Amino acid sequence: MAAPRAEVVIDLDNLRHNVAYLDGLAKDADTMAVVKADGYGHGAVEVARAAVEAGATWLGSCSLAEALTLRAAGFTVPILAWLDPPGTDYTPGVEQDVDLAASSITQLKDITAAAGKAGKTARVHLKIDTGLSRNGCPAADWPALVDLAAKTANIEVHSIWSHLAVADEVGHPATDAQAERFDDAYREALAAGLDPRRHLANSAAVITRPDLHLDLVRPGIAIYGLNPVPVPADLRPVMTFRSTVALAKRIPAGESVSYGLSWTAKSDTNLALVPVGYADGVPRSLSNRMHVWLAHKRRPVVGRVCMDQIVVDCGDDAVAEGDEVVLFGSGDEGEPTAREWADTTGTIDYEIVTGMYRPRVARTYSGTRR
Ligand SMILES: *Cc1c(COP(=O)(O)O)cnc(C)c1O
Repeated sequence: MAAPRAEVVIDLDNLRHNVAYLDGLAKDADTMAVVKADGYGHGAVEVARAAVEAGATWLGSCSLAEALTLRAAGFTVPILAWLDPPGTDYTPGVEQDVDLAASSITQLKDITAAAGKAGKTARVHLKIDTGLSRNGCPAADWPALVDLAAKTANIEVHSIWSHLAVADEVGHPATDAQAERFDDAYREALAAGLDPRRHLANSAAVITRPDLHLDLVRPGIAIYGLNPVPVPADLRPVMTFRSTVALAKRIPAGESVSYGLSWTAKSDTNLALVPVGYADGVPRSLSNRMHVWLAHKRRPVVGRVCMDQIVVDCGDDAVAEGDEVVLFGSGDEGEPTAREWADTTGTIDYEIVTGMYRPRVARTYSGTRR
């Protein structure tokens, strides 16, 4: 087999480890593995399979289409889909037992209409906005929403739920304020005659707020082994991004490298050309600010990141065409991590790994159970 040009390797053993660990942290709650955006760029179906093997009893997706992809792949566990535009036909979702979120009366009516068409009860999770001001029903409209849901025949309210804004900032008072508003919303739901379960916790809250685990937790980033909080957690990064040296050469002192000639060799040096660039998910803003793991060492990428290529300075070390190059990985051996890329470019590791979902990057799996 040819050496990879641009490849992410997804370690499903690490994913299973992370899910089992998080499930253990939230012993009294069920665990929903969040696999939206094609499993944060890791492959939703493969991730979901490994997550269920490791103890997840729910799957979470953003759109109904994502949920239906999981159903088509054969998953029978509950799947929650939480955000689609108005006018979405939820009928296939109801038919295929996808749990649906409603943040408004309009959404609840769309789901009710779909339940009518499907000729079966739709299972709904009513979402309250407790302070994120994004998706979710404003508190002022909540009594009407829970009232209508309680009265609608072909709607079964499974849960009420909300999403946290600053759970990654440990000890931030806004999380407590959100939890209080969530309690208020729960009391109003009970008063309307509902008896819902409750869920609130993202990865950060799974790790730091056991009091908010409630009935179900919804970890996303942590199942991929990336820790959103500065608190130790036994998580193992799942994605490694690698390539192969395509060309090795020596240049004399004074020669410069790549578009703009932004880096100049101070002495004669060996260069390794790696055939990945910003079309493969290497941010151009990492030009002259990144390293790769190559021939047992971290080595600097010199000059600009191009669409298809980067150049690594290897000094006097012999580096051969065909050598493996790790762009980012677990960090265990000293290789860069997705977090390091995020810190350098001013983003979060969520965006780095999710951004690896692109047609030019091959995806392979290790630790697959057959
Ligand atoms: C993405 C998402 C999650 C998971 O968040 P992480 O920070 O990745 O753990 C949980 N709930 C909702 C509603 C989400 O959109």
